[in-house]
Amino acid sequence: MTRYTGSCHCGRIRFQVEAEIDHVRSCDCSICRKRGALNFRVDRSALTLLSDWEDLTLYQWGSQTAGDYFCPTCGILPFRRPGDPTRAELAMGVEPFDGWAINVRCLDGVDLDSLPVVRIAGSRIVHDS
Ligand SMILES: [Zn+2]
Repeated sequence: MTRYTGSCHCGRIRFQVEAEIDHVRSCDCSICRKRGALNFRVDRSALTLLSDWEDLTLYQWGSQTAGDYFCPTCGILPFRRPGDPTRAELAMGVEPFDGWAINVRCLDGVDLDSLPVVRIAGSRIVHDS
């Protein structure tokens, strides 16, 4: 495993993550489209926060099952908790995921241009009513 360090823009949020990053995910859902993050999913235990959890602001929306954590000073989102699969996704065989989606743009020393981009069609997820 490779250990990466990462931070938001102002440095208030700092973290480490253990991963072998071989691709990034680019999603077209309503929030990812505006945010422009490139994500990589890791196990829950792979993320170590080096700053205080209290310094993060949690944004929840839609099904309220995802958690978007961002720095309230500079606005950058270093990682998020993906939401639970919807009923339609479960029916399609999507596995629940209990880890973190790391914003690879926030990691030090990663050559983003060298990583293949996997396109995720988040905008086409059918949400439970
Ligand atoms: Zn910040």
